[in-house]
Amino acid sequence: MKYANIIVNISHENLDKTFQYIVPEALMDTIAVGDYVTVPFGKGNKLINGYVLELTDSACYDPEKLKEIAAVKTDSRLVEYKLIRLAYWMKERYGSTMINALKTVLPVKKLIKEKESKSITLKLDERSAAERLELYARKHQKARERLLKELISEKELDYRLVTGKLNITAATIRAMEEQEILTVVKKRVYRNTADGETEGLKVKLNDMQEQIAESIKDDYARGIRKTYLIHGITGSGKTEVYMDIIDAVVREGKQVIVLIPEIALTYQTVLRFYKRYGDAVSTLHSKLSDGERYDQFERAKKGEISVMIGPRSALFTPFEKLGLIVIDEEHEGSYKSDSMPKYHARETAMELARLHNASLILGSATPSLEAYYRAKNHEYELFVLDKRAKEARLPDVKVIDLKQELKDGNKSMFSRELKRLMEDRLSKGEQTMLFLNRRGYAGFVSCRSCGEVLKCPHCDVSLSEHKGGKLVCHYCGYERKTDKACPKCGSKMIGGMRAGTEQVEAAVKKMFPYASVLRMDADTTKQKDSYERILSAFANKEADILIGTQMIVKGHDFPYVTLMGILAADMSLNAGDHRAAERTFQLLTQAAGRAGRADIPGEVVIQTYQPGHYAVKCAAAQDYEGFYNEEMAYRQLAQYPPAGHMLAVLVESPDEESAGRYCEALAESLKHDIIKGCYGRDVRLIGPADAAIGKINDIYRKLFYVKSADQGALEGVKDSAEEYTDARKEKGVRVTFDMDPLRGY
Ligand code: ADP
Ligand code: ZN
Ligand code: ZN
Repeated sequence: MKYANIIVNISHENLDKTFQYIVPEALMDTIAVGDYVTVPFGKGNKLINGYVLELTDSACYDPEKLKEIAAVKTDSRLVEYKLIRLAYWMKERYGSTMINALKTVLPVKKLIKEKESKSITLKLDERSAAERLELYARKHQKARERLLKELISEKELDYRLVTGKLNITAATIRAMEEQEILTVVKKRVYRNTADGETEGLKVKLNDMQEQIAESIKDDYARGIRKTYLIHGITGSGKTEVYMDIIDAVVREGKQVIVLIPEIALTYQTVLRFYKRYGDAVSTLHSKLSDGERYDQFERAKKGEISVMIGPRSALFTPFEKLGLIVIDEEHEGSYKSDSMPKYHARETAMELARLHNASLILGSATPSLEAYYRAKNHEYELFVLDKRAKEARLPDVKVIDLKQELKDGNKSMFSRELKRLMEDRLSKGEQTMLFLNRRGYAGFVSCRSCGEVLKCPHCDVSLSEHKGGKLVCHYCGYERKTDKACPKCGSKMIGGMRAGTEQVEAAVKKMFPYASVLRMDADTTKQKDSYERILSAFANKEADILIGTQMIVKGHDFPYVTLMGILAADMSLNAGDHRAAERTFQLLTQAAGRAGRADIPGEVVIQTYQPGHYAVKCAAAQDYEGFYNEEMAYRQLAQYPPAGHMLAVLVESPDEESAGRYCEALAESLKHDIIKGCYGRDVRLIGPADAAIGKINDIYRKLFYVKSADQGALEGVKDSAEEYTDARKEKGVRVTFDMDPLRGY
């Protein structure tokens, strides 16, 4: 006898259980995990559909009472099988219902009518095109100018790429077609990457790139599958290396998933892939409708595309013959999901690669501590690219001590040096970017005279200021009254930092009334495509100064930027969680890498109250290794990941009292088992505490952390917590888990 555990395909939380069925004789040899089946359900034996999650030889219930599977519905088991296995792995690792895990990996089924694929070609000859371009520039017809410029250089452009990423309206295209400037044509079908047509677009890899690419391709050809980490500074040519390896994998008839942070999924990046792979490449992004996403997934399943580029959810592209996964900017926080299961794309990709027998390449200028730690432990193979591919000097970085500025009587948010350099750039017609580092800002308190930051005595993270003059630690709940004067130097200049992008904009306009300024933050990018619009405008030299949050430091080339000012390097240093220094180092290093990418050398000014902090010093010196060593020592001391593992358990409820009570009781119950040694010896529970954001949308949030060197032990704790919550459901109370969280709660 064979039994199948089946999850019924209904999105209802209470059905998050497997039901056991007997596998009938006729299906015995063919049924497989992942199959989509029909089963009789409930008293009325209504026929419903479900997925096979597990096959066993023994029954968990009385076999007399079990029913038989009615039929297997599909035979495309390969992809579903792997996706379901992956969902199961995600549920086990990260904690979630199986339904939620399945919803994460399986696309929502929504059909849209298939759009005809179209492209746009230039109708004018070279001279008239150039004349027309001048005319557009004179008349400030920016959209037309942008499109014509691209057409002149590319000859043919994908219609969807133009209306999407290039942000040109259909009306504009129509108008230009009527004026006989361009033609919209039905697309040539399928440009194969192996047919030599793309040869001309390849750069010749330099020796360092070649060595990496050859080594990985050689492994691939010999059937060796593993994870590689390419540590390469910005502009060192990582993307060219990826593409060279992708060529080899695609030539074998295999498929490739390329993950890029959403924010870096700009026109420039996507175009590079389109140029090389034509119709064989497709992109996903979060603004696609369910129907469009489903359409892309269907194309992938039918084998119509070979390369899928997208943010973390592109990992679930149903490729039948996945050969390679690439994760660019591997350290990016957006690779971790915010909703259950709170999976990390890096780990999930490792599991997916294992299921498909595929290779995984990670790339970053500032690898996450996790990835680098594993590379050092030889779990990943490490490659280094430490020179820029094109001749371009690394920028000159100055660190300015804001405490000194204050001592010298300068209370403005701009140091004298930064102001002088901005003036200089304005007079030369070169561009400046001002980066306000507010990432993860959680209301820390610091001294403007000596730079001291108030920290938790138990957790070594910054305390956060709450209403009523309280200082709170969001890891352990430690709490005390805020200081009136600095405990170190006695200065009264103590308090939170509150500068926002709007204040910066106002200050810049006051200082340089004649300068044109663009601002990019959550407010100015609410509208669809406004992000891309602001970046293109700035890249086209339509403004002198761009002010923004971390959005401006990623994924876009600005050839005329020769000055980068980092206004408050400290803000993200004191975010109140154990990754604050890592994030700061990454942001500062990336921001510094933005200046002077073309032939003009760039300058970077880092303004900070903590010029001696290793994250600031190492970023200024572009010293990754130095940063890694210091940071790893801290993580080891406190057993923070990757030195150990950490599980965050978040309890939410609209009723504060029940959130608190439930959280306490759950923590107590787990503590009890921990003390008994149920999960091994080295497991510690920290908290409960109020979350950093204690209330969101009138939902109260309490949490605790569990730490251990052994991830398996934490999975055990999580399983017990799930059992506890399953047995004690309380109205309005929701419990979620985050394994190795990337941020504080
Ligand atoms: P990264 O991904 O590391 O930031 P890219 O692959 O985007 O680097 O390369 C940066 C720039 O250098 C790109 O314009 C790319 O076309 C160019 N480039 C990369 N490798 C080479 C090479 N071997 N020869 C010439 N140009 C190169
Ligand atoms: Zn002080
Ligand atoms: Zn603490």
